[in-house]
Amino acid sequence: PGRPSPSPARSAADHDGNSDLCRVRVAVRLRPKNAHDLAHGADFDCCVELQPECKKLKLKKNNWSCETYKFDEVFSENASQKRVYEVVAKPVVESVLEGYNGTVMAYGQTGTGKTYTVGRLGKDDPSERGIMVRALEHILSCMSLETDTVAISFLQLYLEYVQDLLAPEKINIPIVEDPKTGEVSLPGAAIVEIKDLEHVFQLLQIGEMNRHAANTKMNTESSRSHAILIIHIQRSSRTKYESGTSLPNGAENMFPNNFPLILKSKLLIVDLAGSERINKSGSEGHMIEEAKFINLSLTSLGKCINALAENSPHIPTRDSKLTRILRDSFGGTARTSLVVTVGPSARHLSETSSTIMFGQRAMKIVNKIRIKEE
Ligand code: ADP
Repeated sequence: PGRPSPSPARSAADHDGNSDLCRVRVAVRLRPKNAHDLAHGADFDCCVELQPECKKLKLKKNNWSCETYKFDEVFSENASQKRVYEVVAKPVVESVLEGYNGTVMAYGQTGTGKTYTVGRLGKDDPSERGIMVRALEHILSCMSLETDTVAISFLQLYLEYVQDLLAPEKINIPIVEDPKTGEVSLPGAAIVEIKDLEHVFQLLQIGEMNRHAANTKMNTESSRSHAILIIHIQRSSRTKYESGTSLPNGAENMFPNNFPLILKSKLLIVDLAGSERINKSGSEGHMIEEAKFINLSLTSLGKCINALAENSPHIPTRDSKLTRILRDSFGGTARTSLVVTVGPSARHLSETSSTIMFGQRAMKIVNKIRIKEE
């Protein structure tokens, strides 16, 4: 038998009648009230009400009007890190283990829980672990140590500079797109193979320290930069693919009867910079420059989301480094989940409202993941 003929990208509806299968999944997570929220008097005004049983969020705009939005999931302030992982990230990780690319991202105003959700290490308290650690834990538990490898790159994107958090002297890593496949790579970024969870903690801790040091040096805060963890997986497949079956990444050039097939896939886990409008406080000099670039990457992410949600033929992914790195994550061939984080206080109503609208638009995006026939 010859090379399997690549079947055209099929909509999820062809597969099992579930047209939602490849849509970008969007969950909203509400942060518990904190001292800062309560510092503004006993008459704390909450603008968010959740209806988890019907996956809806009600946003109180003023005393007279409320708007209701439906998400794939809504997490209350009591939702555990484990549950958030299982709903938001686990399906993406499972698909990455089968050889597809995947992306999990957190978006929201600074202080609403993005880093808590995505980057919390929880070394001594496993219940606190965030998505990065849980995803690596999950992946390591599925790897065969003799035949499979898992490696990570850890980067921060700040002022349109891609800096390596595992080799911080590298501050301007280029982004290269393969002219044939369109696949994005970051040549020069460290790719460190990991063997166990202890090593994961070590590397993520080094990354966090380097992020902190870089931000201190540049006189900025980590909330102004995007942190991007790339997990590279290579495994030998035990699945038998029939001729005509659409294959996962990396398996295209193989003949169906050459076993084991080597499957390569990537999982991106992204803690985005704070989505708040940062020039409203009248920043000057360096801060204005910073605001422009942070706005550039998040604004162009927003533009891509709008274009994709409207099914526009032109998606402006080339406008910023963030959207170039995420090129495949929206509307591409990856499976993508987004968690948008919000705080409860009515003082931030306008930021909360714009975060929710961003999430609502992202829900309209359908990725072209190719589904393997069982
Ligand atoms: P961001 O990354 O969006 O700026 P953080 O993740 O740093 O926000 O969260 C701000 C603060 O709120 C941190 O002290 C964090 O521990 C706490 N926090 C955020 N979300 C939760 C949550 N779901 N449960 C408990 N504490 C939380």
